[in-house]
Amino acid sequence: MSTTHVRCSMATCREAATYKIASHWSGGSFSELKTYGFACADHLGPVFREAEERQQAYRPSPGETIEEIAIYRFEQGKRDRQLQRLWGLEENYRS
Ligand SMILES: [Zn+2]
Repeated sequence: MSTTHVRCSMATCREAATYKIASHWSGGSFSELKTYGFACADHLGPVFREAEERQQAYRPSPGETIEEIAIYRFEQGKRDRQLQRLWGLEENYRS
């Protein structure tokens, strides 16, 4: 059995992910965290901005809601709802 390590989303980076960039996505019958990417401490800025651009370009279907991009402290093996949202960090990167 090997443990899968989630890595930073930057193609050139091999660091383990420290942050998860995601937004709450809900529709008529579902509500989940839509993941846009993972980042190490060095690449949180570029990964966050890239996620923001993709989120803003997305056109939700009628009845779908996608909230603003959020940063969570990523911890291997934790469920989405257990992840801690890092509001203070988001303020630094939001455009
Ligand atoms: Zn990285």
